[in-house]
Amino acid sequence: MKKLLLLLTVGCSLSLQAQMLHRCYSKEAISYQNQLTPGFAEAVDQQFELAKQWSQDNGPTRSLYTIPVVFHVVYNTPEENIPDSVIWNQLVRLNEDYARMNADTSNMRSEFMPVAGATQIQFMMAGIDPQGNPTNGITRTSSATTSFGSFNAFFGDFTDLEKVKSTADGGHDAWDGTRYLNIWICDMSINGQAFLLGYATPPANLPNWPVGSTPDNLGDGVVLQYQCVGSNNPNDLGVANYTVLGRTAIHEVGHYLGLRHVWGDGDCTMDDGINDTPDATDASQQDCDQTKNTCNADVVGLGDLHDMIENYMDYSAETCQNSFTDQQAALMHGVLENQRYDLVHNNPAGLEELAVSVSCFPNPTNDFLTVISSELIEQLEVVDLNGKVLLETKGNGNKTTLELQAFEAGMYTVLIHHSNGTVAQQRVAVVK
Ligand SMILES: [Zn+2]
Repeated sequence: MKKLLLLLTVGCSLSLQAQMLHRCYSKEAISYQNQLTPGFAEAVDQQFELAKQWSQDNGPTRSLYTIPVVFHVVYNTPEENIPDSVIWNQLVRLNEDYARMNADTSNMRSEFMPVAGATQIQFMMAGIDPQGNPTNGITRTSSATTSFGSFNAFFGDFTDLEKVKSTADGGHDAWDGTRYLNIWICDMSINGQAFLLGYATPPANLPNWPVGSTPDNLGDGVVLQYQCVGSNNPNDLGVANYTVLGRTAIHEVGHYLGLRHVWGDGDCTMDDGINDTPDATDASQQDCDQTKNTCNADVVGLGDLHDMIENYMDYSAETCQNSFTDQQAALMHGVLENQRYDLVHNNPAGLEELAVSVSCFPNPTNDFLTVISSELIEQLEVVDLNGKVLLETKGNGNKTTLELQAFEAGMYTVLIHHSNGTVAQQRVAVVK
């Protein structure tokens, strides 16, 4: 009956689009898998506890973890084939938000300052593909599938959504999920209306399945609605009062690294398992209500805090999200040291393992930046946060100096193209 009513609602009135929009189906993905493989949800919870125990015993670590990312763009229309500049922007947003270098951290209410934290996790475009060839970390697939969304998907059957992860089904096969964070970008709309912004799979390596795998029904990684990628996306999501800042990816990668929603997907008796996030009864629904305090439980040492709408793992507006907490960071470290160990240890998919040693100094700089590489530098590009190339210059042997005097203060990415075809990237800060 409930299904029928929902179907009628969706079918009869697109004006109810706001109710139709779902920010995230990561919890639904676990439920779906659990229906097919009873015990899956319990196993996910056990893995969470294992990572949490590790983080309590060891962390947060002082390591800086680097995750190689491949973006699979699967498109049916030219608009869905979003440009490299948007994907680069998304990567920069990931790095900014996970490093807590985003400018809007200043919006954080003071009560959360003791718990807000940088994650010590950074993301790099994959430098080599699974065959060992140089790559820019982006695959592009023209597909006959107009949308991977469907009413089946709306009701929690992931069969259609998951086709984006299969070349045979109009999508693109995953690269080795133990070595790459796979992020698929596609259209999941229903009748042209966005219904879902993204979903992710929880950490793998669960009991009863082969090491490093997830069950067949869910391919490991993150899926994003194409208009939600980056903060410079030229495509309109078509949802009133929703501002896209690229934070669907921040949220979904959080799930991929083991985090739960801050309200624990339940009332005040349900916790997200993280001690420094305040309890909440339910999700913030695209709002930024700073007066909300839906549960009375204390955060140890800090008392009863408001609902943390600033947290990336809430459903608050992207414009008021700006932080993870220290213990969320520690939990993610626990996952990277356990269930997703191979992603960040001795990983040939990353750039560090290419035997290319690159350094940029001084960093930060206010005028000149010297780039030194163990490989011959063919070309250098400096890219801003919007993915725009601001400076392009030929390399000079193994050492090239860039003139950045005219650059405004901020974060930039330097792309170092080598004559052997590899591309390295370094983040640099310009200060004034
Ligand atoms: Zn979520």
